[in-house]
Amino acid sequence: MPKGIAASPGITIGRVYILEKENFCILEYKIKKEEVENEIERFKEAVREAKEQLQEIEKKAREKIGIKESYIFRAHLSILEDPLLIKGTLNRIRRQKLNAEASLRNTLRDFPTRFASAQTGLIKERFRDVEDIGGRILANLVNRPTFTLSHLEENIIIVAHDLAPSDTISMQKEKILGFATDIGGRTSHTAIIARSLEIPAVVGLRDITKRTKPGSTVILDGNTGRVIINPTAKQIERYQEEQKKFFSYKKRLETAKDLPAQTMDGREVELAVNIAGPEEIDIALENGAEGVGLYRTEYLYMNRTTLPTEEEQLKAYKVVAQKANPYTVIIRTLDLGGDKFISHFPVPQEINPFMGWRAIRLCLEKVDIFKVQLRAILRASHFGKVKVMYPMISGVEEVRKANKILLEVKKELKEKKIPFAEDIDVGAMIEIPSAAITADLIAKEVDFFSLGTNDLIQYTLAVDRVNEKVAYLYQPTHPTILRLIDNIVKFAHRQNIWVGACGEMSSDPLFVLILLGLGVDEFSVSPSSLLEIKKIIRGIRWDETEEIVSKLLKLSTSSQTRRFAQRRLSKKIKKILEEE
Ligand code: PEP
Ligand code: MG
Repeated sequence: MPKGIAASPGITIGRVYILEKENFCILEYKIKKEEVENEIERFKEAVREAKEQLQEIEKKAREKIGIKESYIFRAHLSILEDPLLIKGTLNRIRRQKLNAEASLRNTLRDFPTRFASAQTGLIKERFRDVEDIGGRILANLVNRPTFTLSHLEENIIIVAHDLAPSDTISMQKEKILGFATDIGGRTSHTAIIARSLEIPAVVGLRDITKRTKPGSTVILDGNTGRVIINPTAKQIERYQEEQKKFFSYKKRLETAKDLPAQTMDGREVELAVNIAGPEEIDIALENGAEGVGLYRTEYLYMNRTTLPTEEEQLKAYKVVAQKANPYTVIIRTLDLGGDKFISHFPVPQEINPFMGWRAIRLCLEKVDIFKVQLRAILRASHFGKVKVMYPMISGVEEVRKANKILLEVKKELKEKKIPFAEDIDVGAMIEIPSAAITADLIAKEVDFFSLGTNDLIQYTLAVDRVNEKVAYLYQPTHPTILRLIDNIVKFAHRQNIWVGACGEMSSDPLFVLILLGLGVDEFSVSPSSLLEIKKIIRGIRWDETEEIVSKLLKLSTSSQTRRFAQRRLSKKIKKILEEE
């Protein structure tokens, strides 16, 4: 039974449609000097055509899935201005005197090597976008219509090596029962769009295109990542039951929507969401989010060719602050570097990008860029409840330096009589072991902490968070992690500041209860997990989680802690989630 990555929840049963895209046959030939300008014009014309096609697709996207997800297609339009792609191709035509098709194809081939250090999901997705757009320009150059999925006639499950966002969007939603692809991860655009269209999807199945035949029946389980090819009548019956259960499960979760995130013995915590852009705030609030615990602003700097201006940033932050009001929005300053980079910003190639020139380190050096962002955040604070948070803090000095710059920006704004919240709260992400161990000192410099458990685990256990080869070592319940968090919370509370947790640990039913028992005051989760996490918090006693945690803290190994936590909590979690 093929097993992949569960990318969009839901269970579906249907017939397979295999989407195959033919490869173009690209001829490579030398052109004469006098033909160069003509070749350049051909290329530019193909780019212009691609722009028109993409604008049309974006328009459709907006109509079909709303403004929220259509940003992907706007980002595609920006690829048409990507200097590596466009100038790279033009240079090849000019210097190597190669025809436009071959120049473009060779430029596309060079992309992965130019970003050799980029191995993570997000960057891989970006390559695929560039490939998709490049393929579109190529299709225009060789004058072939681009394949679309708008002609589908029956309800089917799409099986493909990969799906480009433009494919997904041109499909008729009613006709698509599900997606199954060979490659891709949870951050892939197919996954994002499938989730927003609420179509079940499983990605990263490796060879599903080879294992299925057109017209054959499959069961696709987007909750577990399982795909059953040619199921028996009994299996179909079983999954139909599962399907029913899933629908009623989703319905049941909604009952918690307007209720507080409060344990059975009365401890109320804040339950906010992580967002990456203003498009995501509406859905989050509709699902009952109490504000934004982590606004990852770096996405505003991506998919474009220039840095975002103060006005652009203000617009993005202001709309979130206004919509989330009276709840708080925690805006994290630029966390660039590591697995997040932008092509127009000259971050030198590094052997160890995760430990390199990134996030607050970069901002403290590129003060101009930092100040633009701080100004925009401060100005947005006038329109709602905004807090500012620094990523990748390693010690007291960095907080002091950042706060000094913040103070300068405040002074400048005051002089210009531009309104902002003068008493804006400042927080530090605790995600580096040195910060965790000196949290008592850092607590004196800030108003709150937020645990970046994704990185805290990575740096403490020396386990690359995106390398599947060492994934078995990435253990959120490692005794070191539990002790560190225990200390951080105690240090913070002693200093009368609160502690949030915005890493993925908070979106996991078991781990969120451990964090609760450790005394974390606020949780910021991915929007799709919000209702589930709220229900779990509402179904447990806080003193019980504290008692479990006090025992966990005495154990010596990760497997002991995990087993103990599972023994005490797994059945309970299941029961809570099943309750009406
Ligand atoms: C974290 O590190 O846990 C975190 C929330 O930030 P990011 O995933 O953006 O590094
Ligand atoms: Mg982080």
